[in-house]
Amino acid sequence: MTEDVTEYEVVVVGGGPAGMTAALYSTRLGHQTAVVTRGGGRAAMMQEVHNVLGIREETTGGEYLSIGQEQLEEYGCDIHRDMVSSCSSDGDRITLSGNSGEYSAEMVVLATGFNDVRPDPPLPRTGRGLHYCLHCDAHMFVDQSVYVMGHSESTAHVAGIMLNFTDEVDILLRGDEPDWSEETAGMIERHPIDVVDEDVTGVQNGEDGWLEALEFEDGSVREYKGGFAMYGAEYNNGLAKELGCEINEDGTIDVGDHGKTSVDNVYAVGDCTAGHNQIPVALGQGAKAGIDIHFSLRDFPRDPELLDEQGPVRSDEVPGIPDELLEQAVDFHTYGK
Ligand SMILES: Cc1cc2nc3c(=O)[nH]c(=O)nc-3n(C[C@H](O)[C@H](O)[C@H](O)COP(=O)(O)OP(=O)(O)OC[C@H]3O[C@@H](n4cnc5c(N)ncnc54)[C@H](O)[C@@H]3O)c2cc1C
Repeated sequence: MTEDVTEYEVVVVGGGPAGMTAALYSTRLGHQTAVVTRGGGRAAMMQEVHNVLGIREETTGGEYLSIGQEQLEEYGCDIHRDMVSSCSSDGDRITLSGNSGEYSAEMVVLATGFNDVRPDPPLPRTGRGLHYCLHCDAHMFVDQSVYVMGHSESTAHVAGIMLNFTDEVDILLRGDEPDWSEETAGMIERHPIDVVDEDVTGVQNGEDGWLEALEFEDGSVREYKGGFAMYGAEYNNGLAKELGCEINEDGTIDVGDHGKTSVDNVYAVGDCTAGHNQIPVALGQGAKAGIDIHFSLRDFPRDPELLDEQGPVRSDEVPGIPDELLEQAVDFHTYGK
């Protein structure tokens, strides 16, 4: 190991809601913790935050994440702005190599998320007529004209779901052949969904930047308040693969209880795992992983077999927290209040 390696008990890769929550728990439960993140990600794309209890809707993703970072730093978590490009395990510790440094940890949490595949331009502005998250944004399209762009099963599925919100739903194939099954084709035919073949050639926005209409190559113009792009996801699973974690067919990292991957001491949380891609879900997964890591790393209460073997715990053995973290906790502004 070189001198440039910074050692931690826990390193979280990815500073989105999932990773920062795992780090918040791990830090506050007394573990030397770092988040290594290149920044950006899906949460950073939010123009407004929906579905997160206690957070004002007009909060942007950037504001939300920077409050999280301040919270972490105040408790003593290190945040490194770095891109982890490779990793390895010697069976004892895991080393993560970034562009600016190396980080070594007993436990690693992968919270690397995914990238939405963007359709070709011309496109409305993201969050102002172009959307990627049904559960976040369907509510704003109640009784409005919407499109669903794409040609996959999930395109058809989302178009069907949008009929619960509005009676004006178009699928925009943009010249691609549909990939959906005959059963799905039958479902579309038996619902009031228009399928538009022609590609989009232009976008008309209002003064507030919101989409008003799309222009098509046959010269037609269709009015829309907004819609969803359904071109799939590129999962950031490279580090998980390098560590030998099992990957599901769709590219998500396979996890069990509390975000444990198939490799010891490696957890995965948030959008890089299967499930609903929502902040509250990411927060819950991060919390579960952080708590589980604490139970794995700390000694007390000692289990009965060890107590039989080693005798009762002496008072000079507790607390189980390292000296420097004890000092940090005492320094923290809520201590003793
Ligand atoms: C436009 C948009 C709007 C949305 N609106 C809402 C909403 O209103 N409400 C809601 O609940 N959900 C919303 N979502 C979904 C929500 O953003 C995600 O579910 C959530 O961000 C997932 O958190 P995460 O931490 O797993 O991933 P992310 O937020 O994507 O964070 C992953 C982080 O890991 C970093 N990273 C990846 N690989 C590496 C690496 N090798 N080294 C270092 N860093 C790395 C990324 O750069 C990123 O910072 C929205 C999504 C989008 C795209």
